[in-house]
Amino acid sequence: MSTEQPQPVVQLGLVGQGIGASLTPAMQEREGRWNGLDLHYRLLDADELGVGPADLPQLLLWARRLGYAGLNVTHPFKQAVVPLLDEVSADAADLGAVNTVVLRDGRAVGHNTDWSGYARAFRAGLPDAVHDRAVLVGAGGAGSAVGYALLHAGSEHVAVVDADRGRAAACADRLAARFGADRVSATTDLPAALAGASGVVNATPLGMHGHPGASVPAELLHDGLWISDVVYFPLETELVSAARTRGCRVLPGGGMAVHQAVGAFELFTGLAADAHRVEQHFLELTGARRPATAAPAASAS
Ligand code: NAD
Repeated sequence: MSTEQPQPVVQLGLVGQGIGASLTPAMQEREGRWNGLDLHYRLLDADELGVGPADLPQLLLWARRLGYAGLNVTHPFKQAVVPLLDEVSADAADLGAVNTVVLRDGRAVGHNTDWSGYARAFRAGLPDAVHDRAVLVGAGGAGSAVGYALLHAGSEHVAVVDADRGRAAACADRLAARFGADRVSATTDLPAALAGASGVVNATPLGMHGHPGASVPAELLHDGLWISDVVYFPLETELVSAARTRGCRVLPGGGMAVHQAVGAFELFTGLAADAHRVEQHFLELTGARRPATAAPAASAS
């Protein structure tokens, strides 16, 4: 008879649209195994299931009934899920967006590991760059999380730029309500904002496979500017590549992806994930050559 203890079973899922290529199941399941868990992570693709935001209460109900320990939530459900939860962490409430729902003891508690994941990635990749003026291009869900992380980490000022002025203003207002109106502003003048900045983040889809281009023209990059991208399909976006060529420090989008998963794993399981191990696995999955969180200069490429 085997003396091996059965591994605790943990069932998790991701609710979102167009999530077929997500690396999250592989990352979570591998880290679960390392931690002695029989962890199963399922994609609950809204398109395949034929569900929309109005079906979220049913999805949550069934996740509870089926014994799920938690759900990650992505586009277009991050805002819609908030009012359905028993409790929401203060930071997720500030952002009005939840990407991690922990189902425990009959309660559904929402968290946002997008911002904390970006903050962790930033600390790992650009540890000396936080107390500066930053420009945030793209004021959607990812951009709001990045702005929150930068201000939380001590950036003196964040200028928010978006092709849609209303979205830039709404994002700036939300961040100002939490961090103070003197520390964040919306602007349409990207060149002027960049001229006085020490760093810029792309939080638009530009640079993704199927979305060629860069939200920041290469000629606006200047000495001393750090460049960060949230796009990670591919890791080497046009912007990251132009920044390396210019000799700027870079933080590619893989770091945020890795650390938001690490944060979610810890909330779901109560166990500490090994961020370095998850990053190595992420790089294996993406086939990338550069570290996801490091910021090598042009000479390293
Ligand atoms: P979103 O659609 O909510 O927001 C994108 C914003 O960019 C919109 O407000 C849009 O108006 C703006 N925009 C588009 N083109 C622009 C341009 N040229 N100049 C200025 N603004 C422009 O999308 P989102 O959910 O915030 O995601 C944005 C990107 O971030 C996606 O590529 C997504 O895959 C990526 N993402 C990465 C991570 C990660 O872990 N690395 C996490 C979340 C999202």
